[in-house]
Amino acid sequence: MIKAVLTIDDMPQENTIPIIDYCLGIGIKPLLFTIGEFAEQKPEIVIYALQKGLIVGNHTYSHANLSEVTLDEGIEEIRKCDEVLDRIYNEAGVERKIKVFRYPYLACGGENNKAYTDLLRDLGYKKLDDTGVIAPGYISNGWKFENGTNCSFDCQEYMLREGSDMTMDKILQNIDEAFGKAEQTKEQEHIILTHSHDLTDEREPLYYKTMIERMLSYGTEFVEPKFMDFWSLS
Ligand SMILES: [Zn+2]
Repeated sequence: MIKAVLTIDDMPQENTIPIIDYCLGIGIKPLLFTIGEFAEQKPEIVIYALQKGLIVGNHTYSHANLSEVTLDEGIEEIRKCDEVLDRIYNEAGVERKIKVFRYPYLACGGENNKAYTDLLRDLGYKKLDDTGVIAPGYISNGWKFENGTNCSFDCQEYMLREGSDMTMDKILQNIDEAFGKAEQTKEQEHIILTHSHDLTDEREPLYYKTMIERMLSYGTEFVEPKFMDFWSLS
């Protein structure tokens, strides 16, 4: 049986509260990542998540690709979102016990990666505990040693867009491969990446429910996120 942590990026959007309610209703506590400027526009949705006991992490201020912007711009992106989160946690009356970060596009900053490690450490960040993740691609890509929260299974539902040949059938086939194949069901963990996107809901209503139900059909156990230090990793 696979254990999995569900991570949801790019909140807050209109479908964020329905996603939270669906997940909590079936006992799943997702880890959320917010885009700072969206959070400023819709703080009430972030507050809703926090008051439901969920952790909201930093996903930069404007969803910047940190492998493409300058180091100064990247630092500003992380700091600004961090400050927005401080304010909103405060407004929600919730102590910000855990700070986590995820790189937009999973673009880990290229040659600036080490500088981001220093920044995130200094700001008190941890990362999602991924010691149980053994997916080969996760290890060979070096993600096990990253300072941000990466993923070992990307749902790719954000590709459900006009002009793309991605379909829900293909997404479900990928889930079957990763979660349903006998040789892959031995004890291991997955970090699942999905998104809170209103555009996806327009194309594929309740996409998150369809995907999660398929994972559950294989006995996947969704576990609460735990966290670890990253700066001692090589
Ligand atoms: Zn994102």
